[in-house]
Amino acid sequence: MPDRPLGLHDGDTAAILSGLAASGTLTELYGKEPAGRLDPLLLRRILTEADAHGATGTVLALLVQLANVTPLLAEAADSPVTSRILRAALDGGELLALAATDTASPGSDLAALGTTVDLSHGDGGILLDGGKRWVTSALTAGHALVLARHRSGRHFTSFTWVLVPLTAPGVTVRAADTDLFDGAGLGHLHFDSVRLSREYVLGRPGRGLALFARHVTVERLASAAWAVALCRRVVAGTAQRLATRSVEGVPLRRSPSVRQRLADCAVRLSALDALWTQSADRIAQHHDATAAASLKALSGMTVEHILTECARLQGADGFDRGGVQRLRAEAAVFGIGGGATEVVLDTVAERLDQVLSGLTP
Ligand SMILES: Cc1cc2nc3c(=O)[nH]c(=O)nc-3n(C[C@H](O)[C@H](O)[C@H](O)COP(=O)(O)OP(=O)(O)OC[C@H]3O[C@@H](n4cnc5c(N)ncnc54)[C@H](O)[C@@H]3O)c2cc1C
Repeated sequence: MPDRPLGLHDGDTAAILSGLAASGTLTELYGKEPAGRLDPLLLRRILTEADAHGATGTVLALLVQLANVTPLLAEAADSPVTSRILRAALDGGELLALAATDTASPGSDLAALGTTVDLSHGDGGILLDGGKRWVTSALTAGHALVLARHRSGRHFTSFTWVLVPLTAPGVTVRAADTDLFDGAGLGHLHFDSVRLSREYVLGRPGRGLALFARHVTVERLASAAWAVALCRRVVAGTAQRLATRSVEGVPLRRSPSVRQRLADCAVRLSALDALWTQSADRIAQHHDATAAASLKALSGMTVEHILTECARLQGADGFDRGGVQRLRAEAAVFGIGGGATEVVLDTVAERLDQVLSGLTP
C-alpha cells in the first residue's frame, strides 16, 4: 500500500507545520496522548520529503520543532499555560524555538551558561536575565524554551527550562548576521529583567539539563536522517551532472578516479544509513545517549566528506547562486549544531567499552 500523503506543502516552517497537523501526521508522529516520544520512521519520512521541497533553513527549523521542542514540551508541560502552548504546537499553530546556546559561554559547555532565572521573585513570579545566541526560529517563533540556571555552579541540577513569550517586556530579538539558512529565522535573544508568572517554568526546577540530554538524542537522530536525505540528493545530482561533462571525449562520470570518489561517498552514506536504522528505536524509545552520540559523530563526518567531494566535482558552477558550494557551507552545521563532532566524540570516548561491547561478536 502506498504511504499516505503527509500533508507537506511548499512554504515556510509555520505553513508546513499546519499542513502536517491538518493531515493528521503530527498526531501519528507523537500518538494521541503525546508524552515525549515519537515514531522515528515517520519523522525520517517527513524530513526526507521536506529536504526535497524546502530550503535548508526551513528544514532546520522544522527539525528542531518536531524532534526536540515538541517532545520536550510534551514531557515537561504541567501548567495551564505550558499545556496550552503544547496543544497549539500539536495543532500546527505554534512555532517554537529552543534556546540553549548562551551568550556568556561556549555552546559546547552548557554547564557554564550564564542566563539566570530567579524562581522566587516575589508574588510567585520569576525573573529572567541573560542572553542566547544562534537560536533557530528566534525571529519567527511566538515562544522560546530557554535553558537558564536557578542556582550558581556547574551541578547537573542547577538548570531549569522556562517557556518565554518572545513579545514579553524585556525580551529583545536580533537577527543573526548571516546570508545562510534562509527560512530558519536565526537570531539572538536578550533578556533584561523579564518577569513571568511561575506557570512558565517547564517541569520541576533542576531538571533542565536532564531534559536537554534526553531530547537532544532525538534531535541527533533526526539530524542524521536529514543528513542521509541531503547527501543522497547531492551525490545523485553530482553523478548525473558528471555523466554529461566529457573530458577528451570521456564522460567524467566514467573516469576511474571520479567513479571511485563517488563510490566512496555512496559507501560512507550507506554506513550512516545502516547505523541510523540500527539505532533508531534505541534512541527514539530509550533516548540512548551513546547511540545518539555515535550517530551524530558519523553524520557530521560523513556530511563534511561528501559535501566537500561533491562540491569540488561540480567545478566552478558549484559557486552559482544557490549552488552546491552554498549548501556545503550550510551543511557544515551537521558538525556543529546539536553538539559539535568533537563534543559527541568525547561522549563516545567516555563510553568506549560500551560501544565496543555492543558490536556483533
Ligand atoms: C545554523 C545554526 C543553528 C543553531 N540553532 C540553535 C538553536 O536552535 N538553539 C540553540 O540553543 N543553539 C543553536 N545553535 C548553536 C549550536 O548549538 C552551537 O553552535 C554549538 O553547540 C557549538 O557551540 P559554539 O558555537 O559556541 O562553539 P564552541 O562551543 O565555542 O566550539 C567551537 C569549536 O570548538 C571545537 N570544540 C568544542 N568543544 C570541543 C571539545 N570538547 N574537544 C575538542 N574540540 C572542541 C569544535 O570544533 C567546535 O565547533 C545553532 C547553530 C547554528 C550554526
